[in-house]
Amino acid sequence: MELERYIRQTIFSPLGEEGQRRLLASSVVIIGCGGLGCNIANLLTRAGVGHIRVVDRDYVELDNLHRQILFDEEDIERGLPKAIAAAEKLRKVNSQVEIKPLVADVHHRNVEEIIKDRDLVLDGTDNFETRYLINDACVKHDTPWIYGGAVGSYGMTMNIIPHQTACLRCLFTEPPPPGTIPTCDTMGILGSVPAVIGSIEATEAIKLLSGKGSPNPGVIHIDLWENTFEVFQVARQETCPSCGQGKFEFLEAKEAAMVTSLCGRNAVQITPVTEVTISLPALAKRLQAIGEVTFNEFLLRFQVNDYLVTIFPDARAIIRGTSDETVARNLYAKYIGT
Ligand SMILES: [Zn+2]
Repeated sequence: MELERYIRQTIFSPLGEEGQRRLLASSVVIIGCGGLGCNIANLLTRAGVGHIRVVDRDYVELDNLHRQILFDEEDIERGLPKAIAAAEKLRKVNSQVEIKPLVADVHHRNVEEIIKDRDLVLDGTDNFETRYLINDACVKHDTPWIYGGAVGSYGMTMNIIPHQTACLRCLFTEPPPPGTIPTCDTMGILGSVPAVIGSIEATEAIKLLSGKGSPNPGVIHIDLWENTFEVFQVARQETCPSCGQGKFEFLEAKEAAMVTSLCGRNAVQITPVTEVTISLPALAKRLQAIGEVTFNEFLLRFQVNDYLVTIFPDARAIIRGTSDETVARNLYAKYIGT
């Protein structure tokens, strides 16, 4: 009886009823519920993955709606966090699935608890700080995870089966320094890109959880504007600190950034732990699209909504207009990029 709603999926013979039963018994966590996370959660809930946890630190805003398909204008009026709004929608779609929302910032103290006892972890995040934490936690606990990213017109995804396939640190040993990569908030993003990358992540999840089919062994890179679809092979590296040597530097490290609330100033300071020098003119160029940016050789300043963000060449930032550290970390990830 419970399989009836999945009939169009179970008569797809490579999956079949046996594959469907495995999906129903599976548990996943989707970290980040933006463009990618919404698409992944939508597809996996409809597909009947039995236990889905959705983690996100942010709330729904108007400029999310062109790509974050689980949200609507009412969620904004109600001021809902994304994880809560997503859970409400997903439960309406499929009441057989257990949906657990968690409104939280993922950091080195809670990431292991968040991925614990899950069959698979799906990346719906928008920053490398969190992805390297997920990678360390998943390699340490031998939990498969699927990396995904989308910006502008392109995106990529890769399955990581710890100690069998390359991990994120085999691909890039170190995360890109803060302020050096484009984000959705500086470069923009077409709504179709997370739909495609999220669909691939969801399909790979269905293969891995059901044990059917052949999971993608490499990195898939797609550019929808340029009409390109490429698959690169990535080899495991014996020298990889994480899956090669078992050193989980991101779990053990303090935060990738120190966050300090500046008392009485309604401001939060974010100081990256890694030493880095960023080019203020290059950052100014990327931020131009979102509003007025001013800079000199000492600092760069821009206004976004009610916040005034000041960034220094060592990637330290002061975010004025809030004393909430999570809000500040979120703005930093969006506009400076971690
Ligand atoms: Zn590795």
